[in-house]
Amino acid sequence: MPKSLTLALSKGRIYNETLPLLKALGIEPIDDPDISRKLILSTNQPDINLIIVRASNVPIYVEYGGADIGVAGKDVLLEHPKAELYEPVDLKIACCKLMTAGPINAVMKTSRLKVATKFVESTRRFYAKQGQQVEIIKLYGSMELAPLVGMADQIVDVVDTGNTLRANGLEPIKHIANISSRLIVNKASMKTKHTAIQNFIDRICHVVKEHNND
Ligand code: AMP
Repeated sequence: MPKSLTLALSKGRIYNETLPLLKALGIEPIDDPDISRKLILSTNQPDINLIIVRASNVPIYVEYGGADIGVAGKDVLLEHPKAELYEPVDLKIACCKLMTAGPINAVMKTSRLKVATKFVESTRRFYAKQGQQVEIIKLYGSMELAPLVGMADQIVDVVDTGNTLRANGLEPIKHIANISSRLIVNKASMKTKHTAIQNFIDRICHVVKEHNND
């Protein structure tokens, strides 16, 4: 009897872009998370289950063994620098950039900048490296609003096309990091379910290479 594997995913872009990779491995969920209210989804492989959690919770579920494997954005992983997990594969999906942004043509401020973000760790590290003192305002989403209502001078957010920034009169300023989704693995599972996990890693590496023609 093969040991079962639990894979943690978040809804939206990561789920949608992970699905074709899983399909290439012969793994297909039986329920659709957009229709079903189930948080544990069975797949056509009796030994593989999916759990659907918030993106920021994926590393936590994997670190504490709620899932053996997960798919998490690098933006989220950068917020958990001390997490005890393996990050063996760059899946090269859900790609975007972590950037600072501010109002178009804003005048340079000489006093301490106020920066609104949900990426507090990355923001703190970035401005500290620049030698710039900032006040970080922690938000849980829709950061673009903060400069519009005069609450912050800049934001730090993930940017793909830049359309969301432009639609709100903002522009990207500085590049902090390239972001893509990573396969992450629980350290204990890597030992106790080594064959199953190593097999999963090898096969998904192969699929990622094929999808990216390299
Ligand atoms: P865009 O308008 O294409 O620049 O997309 C920006 C918005 O889409 C951001 O505010 C994010 O909330 C979201 N977004 C874009 N790419 C990603 C990604 N790879 N992971 C998570 N959210 C993303």
